[in-house]
Amino acid sequence: MADGPGFRTAIYCAGCNHACPGCHNPQSWNIDNGHWMEIDELMDIIKADSMSNVTFTGGDPFCQVEAFTELARRIKAETSKNIWCWTGYTIEEIQADERLAQMLPYIDTLVDGPFILAQRDTTLLFRGSPNQRIIHLTPVEEDVCPGAVELVKPR
Ligand code: SF4
Repeated sequence: MADGPGFRTAIYCAGCNHACPGCHNPQSWNIDNGHWMEIDELMDIIKADSMSNVTFTGGDPFCQVEAFTELARRIKAETSKNIWCWTGYTIEEIQADERLAQMLPYIDTLVDGPFILAQRDTTLLFRGSPNQRIIHLTPVEEDVCPGAVELVKPR
């Protein structure tokens, strides 16, 4: 599994409450295992690499949704970078929860759903089991993920 197409600045957050058996990164479940960083600090790192787009992963970025929403909002306001975000929630669960849904307007591509060990497939692009979907929330110039779900919505 990779952190998305092309060069990317990947932000691995701490905190996840999905507890998927076979998780690739169980040390990330405990939010206290992380290292606190200010949004300004992250923006400096993101902006310093003009070639790279941005990936939110972890852990589950939606477990710190207020902070990641503000970070995503600033990335969109201050750069032209796209944002891919991995989450253990399905998009339907996110859309049904006003608190979680606040981040969606700033995300370009969501890779959603829990990892299901019994369905593990190492041939899949950018995900570990086929229930996980690559959902383009904004139009993409070139579809690097044949079969991705298109769910284009206006900004
Ligand atoms: S959502 Fe991701 S990080 Fe969280 S338990 Fe599942 S596989 Fe691990």
